[in-house]
Amino acid sequence: VKLSQLGEFGLIELVKKTPAKRKDTSLGIGDDCALIGDLLITTDTLVENTHFRLKKTSFFDLGYYSLFINVSDIAAMGGEPTHAFVTIGAPGKTNVKSIQQLYKGINALARKLKIDIAGGDTVSSSKLIVSITLLGKVEKKHLLTRAGARIGDMILATGEFGGPAARNYELGITNYELRLKESGIIAKSKLATSMIDSSDGLVRSVLEICKSSKVGALIYSSEVPRSKGATVKQALHGGEEYELVFTVPAKNISKIKRKLGKTKLSIVGEIRTRSKGVGVLNERGRIEAVKAGGFEHFK
Ligand code: ADP
Ligand code: MG
Repeated sequence: VKLSQLGEFGLIELVKKTPAKRKDTSLGIGDDCALIGDLLITTDTLVENTHFRLKKTSFFDLGYYSLFINVSDIAAMGGEPTHAFVTIGAPGKTNVKSIQQLYKGINALARKLKIDIAGGDTVSSSKLIVSITLLGKVEKKHLLTRAGARIGDMILATGEFGGPAARNYELGITNYELRLKESGIIAKSKLATSMIDSSDGLVRSVLEICKSSKVGALIYSSEVPRSKGATVKQALHGGEEYELVFTVPAKNISKIKRKLGKTKLSIVGEIRTRSKGVGVLNERGRIEAVKAGGFEHFK
């Protein structure tokens, strides 16, 4: 069997059984971050010609974005980023200046968020690779995972969807808003029951919440705010938006809206019983069942 048949998620399923389950691992594989004590850990990698093209992306943007996507995962659990490990793989012919530019991008965000670059690794490689492991901290009482959504909860999302897909996924830091402040507010409010970042698309995010929470969901496609130029399909499945998708009991909706103030917030669906599965209420009022969707490596 080839990886292209199995796909990214199939492969993770295949390899995810850990040989030694430790008691201090509160959360292992399966959420935006792992949790060990009050320490959150996440890692994300960007590979030339898979995630970006050097012709279209500046080294500065690439650096900034590589840290940004990791911060998004820490934020999705209600945490704050603290320390980063940066691994660079690059061909020998790469200009030193380019890598310095890449670091300027990483450092710009790290400075802003007070993230300490505490280590990493440097290797030669046929393609440019940036891989960051980010640590963060969270108070247990504020932790939000993908599990915890309950029947009767509404599904909320910050921002708009489909923009990167409509723009053909051109990397550019100006396209992304960091939802760290909002995630902190949501986590500390204790009004939400689960949260995820929408990196693999809105529908995929809801599927992940449903899988972890053992529930079903109905997504209202006409309520999903679309970025300029995005189709409904792009908004539902596009991905790379890094918005927060979270569930809130219906009675807490007005409270959370008030707490989030000016942030664009939409009710994009509701949690329902697991036996009903995950469906999308389309613009013609029909419910379509969904199984997958969103970006998946190898496929
Ligand atoms: P995200 O999109 O939030 O970064 P991923 O979809 O990349 O998350 O990963 C889903 C889960 O699978 C995470 O818990 C991640 O740590 C884990 N994971 C991904 N790849 C591997 C791997 N090769 N080995 C073990 N765990 C993995
Ligand atoms: Mg994530």
